[in-house]
Amino acid sequence: MSNHITKTKVVATLGPSTKDDKVLIKLIETGVDVFRLNFSHGSHEEHKKSIEKIHKINKKLNTKTAILVDLQGPKLRLGELKEESFELKEGNEIIFTTKKVLGTIKKVQVSYKDFAADVKVGEVVKVDDGKIELKVAQIINSTDVLLKTVFGGTVRPRKGINLPETAISVPSLTKKDIEDLEFILQQDISWIALSFVRTANDIIKLRGMIEFKSHPAKIVAKIEKPEAVANLDAIIEASDAIMVARGDLGVEIPVEDVPMVQKSIVTKCIAASKPVIIATQMMESMIVNAVPSRAEITDVANAIFDGADAVMLSGETAVGKHPIKVIETIQKIAYRSEEQSSIYNLKHTLDRESNKFLSNAICYNAIFISQEVGAKAIIATTKSGYTAFALSSFRPKANIYAFTENEELLNTLSLLWGVRAFHYNNFVNHEEMMDDLEGILKDKELLQSGDIVLITGSIPVQARNSTNFIKVSVVK
Ligand code: PEP
Repeated sequence: MSNHITKTKVVATLGPSTKDDKVLIKLIETGVDVFRLNFSHGSHEEHKKSIEKIHKINKKLNTKTAILVDLQGPKLRLGELKEESFELKEGNEIIFTTKKVLGTIKKVQVSYKDFAADVKVGEVVKVDDGKIELKVAQIINSTDVLLKTVFGGTVRPRKGINLPETAISVPSLTKKDIEDLEFILQQDISWIALSFVRTANDIIKLRGMIEFKSHPAKIVAKIEKPEAVANLDAIIEASDAIMVARGDLGVEIPVEDVPMVQKSIVTKCIAASKPVIIATQMMESMIVNAVPSRAEITDVANAIFDGADAVMLSGETAVGKHPIKVIETIQKIAYRSEEQSSIYNLKHTLDRESNKFLSNAICYNAIFISQEVGAKAIIATTKSGYTAFALSSFRPKANIYAFTENEELLNTLSLLWGVRAFHYNNFVNHEEMMDDLEGILKDKELLQSGDIVLITGSIPVQARNSTNFIKVSVVK
């Protein structure tokens, strides 16, 4: 296993279990590629400290760990309760109100001011990740709605609410998200994830705000609403990456549909050269236990067999007892699954109408040449990062080493399947450049004399245009 670099990327959510510098260092050394900062929790000050720590460690270890910030989005919640909790039983009636009240078994506040205007009689209301289900029985007035309990459970303060059958009118970016964005767009981070995306316009709006501040962050759309599943093609096109957010998705759509939706999202993302992250409950039992269940191991392996770029840990690394063991275990599963997978050397239909047609054709054929000649690596020079996204989507067996002058891209590319990025800016003469790049990889012991490598990029090198050449060479 020693010199095999796993191609599947690992996203780990930070939290109380992963505050310590030593733990962060160990996590990166063990295989974390991206740290996720969840803006549903924590203050700006805490997030700023984490961002600074990660950059300091990256510098010390010479690593390119990316930072992904996750905006809470329009998450609907219950308000505060009078008591610690109460029990709802099948058939119990309860009023959800938008007025400020301390909740009881008779009436509880909801955080969503258009609740009474948006819901219709007979629609389903789920509480606490679907552990409790109610049905709308009567719209009493513009603030109060009567609900009947379908199956009950313990109601606790601030628990999440899902309305899978309701076309909710809350904006995609809430007041909190906009305040969080003000802060985030002053930070050195690579990816911004948007929760509860419904249409491509949600992404276009966020992109407008990012571009207005000239921030280089790329966007991850979290698919967790039935509307997002219905608008998937347009959302994939508008986004830079996708997250299959199975936690809320499994509450919003029938849970038995999640596996097929996951597979379909992965297939569409690969075809569109957009990285895809599989999230939630991957190693859930390791929040407490030192070993995962057989079902969790199989779930991680199946995500890899499907072709996911990355697997994501939430509570396992944020609040779990064994954050490092979780990453060690994921790496072992990735190693074995990649060895046994048939995900490699994928064929895409190339779109002749696309303005990327010629670059895509180069990348596509580079994969097949690399397979034919048994290349150890495909070296890509890239300014925008596009060539790395494209090469990765064809899933070559050879490692992809991306060289770019664009420092802002270096950490960003850590999310992409099989890609490792390096800084390089001596784009003067293509022969000198090719010698340089092979030399750098030899020095890092990623290549050795006699290895066959492919180099792709653009000639003339100074112009930094789209990818237009492939060269096959034997390392000196
Ligand atoms: C999810 O719902 O699966 C998810 C990743 O989102 P969050 O952790 O923000 O609820």
